[in-house]
Amino acid sequence: MNHNIAIDGPAGAGKSTIAKAVAAKLGHIYVDTGAMYRAMALFFLRQGIDLNDEKQITAACDGADVSIEYIDGSQRVILCGEDVSEAIREERVGNSASIVSVYPSVRTKMTALQRKLASLRPVVMDGRDIGTVVLPDASCKIFLDASPEVRAARRVKQLLEKGVETAFDEVLADIRDRDERDRNRPIAPLIAAKDAVTVDTSNMTLEQVINRLLEIYNAR
Ligand code: C5P
Repeated sequence: MNHNIAIDGPAGAGKSTIAKAVAAKLGHIYVDTGAMYRAMALFFLRQGIDLNDEKQITAACDGADVSIEYIDGSQRVILCGEDVSEAIREERVGNSASIVSVYPSVRTKMTALQRKLASLRPVVMDGRDIGTVVLPDASCKIFLDASPEVRAARRVKQLLEKGVETAFDEVLADIRDRDERDRNRPIAPLIAAKDAVTVDTSNMTLEQVINRLLEIYNAR
């Protein structure tokens, strides 16, 4: 049995915070796959490519050199030699990632990179299609969920902590748009794997969620 943990769920469900904490407790490496799609989106934005033009995106894909490094245990995303770990956090980049991640050319490239990382050491990997497509053999699969309102409120708070003020309604609308695109795309849509355990974090504290995940992992 492998020790990989796949965590999927919609934007703002708490995946990255939880996955990071669980990885630290177990000594696994944490792999944030959303960051990779964000790096691809940033590349296309910088190239001035129309994100709705699949042909152009596919043609440009090869030039996007995305890699992952670990510095002091934390994941850094490198795009064509530049550390873009901070630049990819902008809301604009997240929304663009959800547009370009529907294309097979982008997904094939990212899936290969993610599988390679998981072949090196046990991982806690979070995303949208980890339990279903990227690591279907992961021995522990979690689907983290929360209501759109709770997720929007968390995003607003997170952004405020970074000094960015945003309107709740705008963030909620973005979250709904992203959910819609992620859940309804034909390839690798956001869906719980058949063998995933769903955990609704709406009314749970961080600590409760972490403990629940460790319980699921230990019982697998
Ligand atoms: O998780 P995060 O919000 O950083 O992801 C940004 C976008 O990348 C998501 O909205 C989703 O469209 C896409 N994504 C994906 N598959 C993954 C991870 C992220 O399609 N495994």
